[in-house]
Amino acid sequence: MSEKIKNILKQEDFSKNDLIELMKIDNKEDLDLLFKKAYEVKAKYVGKKVYYRGLIEISNKCIKNCKYCGIRRDNHKVDRFSMSKSEIMEAVKWIYENNYASIALQSGERQDEEFVSFIENLIKEIKNFSNGKLGITLSLGEQSKETYRRWFEAGAHRYLLRIESTNLDIYNHLHPMDNKHTFEVRKKCLEYLRDIGYQVGTGVMIGLPNQTEEDLVNDILFYKDMNIDMIGMGPYILHKDTPLGQEWKDIVVSEEKRVELGLKMIAITRIFLKDVNIAATTALQGLDPQGREKGLLAGANILMPTATALEHKNKYLLYDNKPGINDSVEKAKEIMDNNVKAIGDEIVYGEWGDSLHFKKK
Ligand code: SAM
Ligand code: SF4
Repeated sequence: MSEKIKNILKQEDFSKNDLIELMKIDNKEDLDLLFKKAYEVKAKYVGKKVYYRGLIEISNKCIKNCKYCGIRRDNHKVDRFSMSKSEIMEAVKWIYENNYASIALQSGERQDEEFVSFIENLIKEIKNFSNGKLGITLSLGEQSKETYRRWFEAGAHRYLLRIESTNLDIYNHLHPMDNKHTFEVRKKCLEYLRDIGYQVGTGVMIGLPNQTEEDLVNDILFYKDMNIDMIGMGPYILHKDTPLGQEWKDIVVSEEKRVELGLKMIAITRIFLKDVNIAATTALQGLDPQGREKGLLAGANILMPTATALEHKNKYLLYDNKPGINDSVEKAKEIMDNNVKAIGDEIVYGEWGDSLHFKKK
């Protein structure tokens, strides 16, 4: 065990160099120490509690062409779908009846008026149906400030938009420049969301080609600078029919290393930011059958069990070997309940579980 790491972990505040030292930990003893500390910080600031967000993947149609994503516009092998309002409401009803208290609507990006008003009406219907009881998180990509405002006024109150990577070389390499897909636009969107009054979530992909420990620490510093309330981040996973999947076939960063980096990111973010909501994401589970439990033990407090119907789930494939695509919604819930119970955290049903960081502002 290194004295240096032990001493850093005793601190309340951390310099960038401290964070880099933590990110570079590469032995089991120090890793265990880091995760133990992160779990203590979670228990102190947000409790040993887990909140569920029932995830509905409403459409795999996308105008963007991110080089890592399986449902990118130019992947012509994808069987495209958009759920109808009644199909979505069926999933919403299931989530409501199972007392999750929050839903998350996710989709490929579209900015046309038909889509914008469909979402606006859907949000109103969900609010009406649940008497305002269901919390609504959106993850529908980059939009104009006006669109974000319409959806907020309709009743959504949280928004997830990952910055993906704050290293500009990596960002530009991953995102073709068409559709104004620039770092500046994405950052501006996070500012719009904040101005409007959303709880703002962001995150990055971890273990990308050429990404260094310092890059990952810069990502965490970005969360702080942007006063982010919720973090959803996970390891990058290859999709064979994408440019990055092809480019990266002879893998540079092993799966094991990506999981370890993913867990270190959760732990260091928890220790540094303390009271934010942090999700243990499906991608973590995608690379490690115990990824979810490990994520909670490293400081995460949010899980997003899918409530997407089986017929659509296997068409929303962002990466290869997505876990649970053959599980029914009931099965997905059962697995998740068991994961949480296994580590002794409490699942909080019936409460929104808003970011305490946001509430304190
Ligand atoms: N289209 C919206 C957007 O991009 O913000 C929301 C849906 S998008 C599929 C949600 C997230 O999936 C992205 O922010 C990205 O980080 C993640 N993702 C896409 N492809 C991935 C991959 N191959 N490995 C890991 N995460 C991936
Ligand atoms: Fe579309 Fe989001 Fe995938 Fe990019 S990450 S291609 S915006 S669904």
